[in-house]
Amino acid sequence: MAAKLIDGKAFATKIKADITAEISARKNQGFAAPCLAVILVGDNPASHIYVRNKRQACEEAGIKSIYHSLPNTIPENDLKELIHQLNNDPTVNGILLQLPLPEHINSDALLELIDPAKDVDGFHPYNLGRLAQRRPALQPCTPYGIMMLLDHIKETYKNRHAVIVGASNIVGRPMALELLLAGSTITICHRFTKDLSYFVKQADILVAAVGIPSLIKGDWIKPGATVIDVGINRLIDGSIMGDVEFTAAKEKAAWITPVPGGVGPMTTATLLKNTLTATINQDSETRDIP
Ligand code: NAD
Repeated sequence: MAAKLIDGKAFATKIKADITAEISARKNQGFAAPCLAVILVGDNPASHIYVRNKRQACEEAGIKSIYHSLPNTIPENDLKELIHQLNNDPTVNGILLQLPLPEHINSDALLELIDPAKDVDGFHPYNLGRLAQRRPALQPCTPYGIMMLLDHIKETYKNRHAVIVGASNIVGRPMALELLLAGSTITICHRFTKDLSYFVKQADILVAAVGIPSLIKGDWIKPGATVIDVGINRLIDGSIMGDVEFTAAKEKAAWITPVPGGVGPMTTATLLKNTLTATINQDSETRDIP
């Protein structure tokens, strides 16, 4: 039986509509619009497209976005100074540092400089640590969006074996922490895993986040599994495909995300959600000050 499609595009549209309504209601109560500062360094074409889409989504939701588009040659100290300024600016609620950064810049050091309360990507060690300690604060956007999709299809999590392929700081690792928190049993596979198919075949929930087209073969999928394909692989003809052999996997899975139109739109929706959450938290902190 063919799997049901998890329509991330439609679900993200609904979430964005809810966020837009909440921001509008807050404005009617006298609150300022949330404000997201976006920092883009260099001229990576994919990064420019991502930033343009994120800023457009902000505008549609009623979130103000401030844009810092900086040259590839910018010294690391200038970026540090900018982040300090944005951290200390009470009118800025969220800070997004678009990755990847040029090689002469230490991305980890800069991400760690962002005020965790404004870390709407959820990449700061504080926010990852909170997730690891079962007290999530601002959650990394892509795994958070995947959890929303899984909740939406009424995934039960407990007594389920979740296999995550890919162990990056921004997707695989926080994904494992989210699913662990939800009560699943976790296996994480990565580039040093011997016999990937052995693990994938056991997955009740499979999350593929590698960046290799069709790495996961359709006949590895356990019948009835939920398959989440995070991969975005641009082919020579310009088309985009995921990490999973979609057509064959669809015949075995119960649920599957398409690429495009699955996880991708949710990542933008959760960025907006985190920006709103950060704003609400900061506004309530301000009101608590006598
Ligand atoms: P990354 O390169 O940082 O990490 C890739 C991971 O895959 C590593 O942990 C590596 O060990 C593992 N890996 C590499 N080869 C492997 C193999 N043969 N078998 C098993 N594991 C292997 O990548 P990332 O930033 O986590 O992104 C992964 C993919 O997800 C990319 O295609 C990226 O474009 C996509 N992505 C999509 C979204 C979205 O919103 N849809 C967001 C972030 C990333």
